[in-house]
Amino acid sequence: MESCCTVPEHASQGPMRCPVCGKAGRRVEPITVKAMLVPKALMRASDPEHLFRAAATCPVVYFGAHEALFREDVIVPVFQKDPAGRRIVCYCFGIGEDDIRRERLETAGALPSERVRALVKEGRCACEVKNPQGVLPRSTPAMVGGSPQVKPRRNPSLVV
Ligand SMILES: [Zn+2]
Repeated sequence: MESCCTVPEHASQGPMRCPVCGKAGRRVEPITVKAMLVPKALMRASDPEHLFRAAATCPVVYFGAHEALFREDVIVPVFQKDPAGRRIVCYCFGIGEDDIRRERLETAGALPSERVRALVKEGRCACEVKNPQGVLPRSTPAMVGGSPQVKPRRNPSLVV
């Protein structure tokens, strides 16, 4: 029998599941979760690791083995959880959906995605602590791909 005071380091129950919808999440660095939480949530959160829950249908943003954190626990609006239109697409450089729409109308040239890529190349991006889903693995499909209204043809991903 386990003592009620000991939490096994890695419960061998398979991957963690969202306590609300029962689905899996994507692993994020602890520093990302810490940077994203409002002070109250930061004081409360105790799980050593959390997964990011991207689905718009689930109110959970992060969950750990014993807790869930919701939109109101996170300091920035969470792209995946908000309706399309004026959401922030690039957290590091503050580019929103409305900026992208405007620039597409105004210029045929440099799209925000290209600007962002250039900035990322210069090492200026800070997704680790500014983007609620942390740094995306290179193979991850577009962060903007989730919404048909903003799905750009030439702009598969703003997060490089
Ligand atoms: Zn969920």
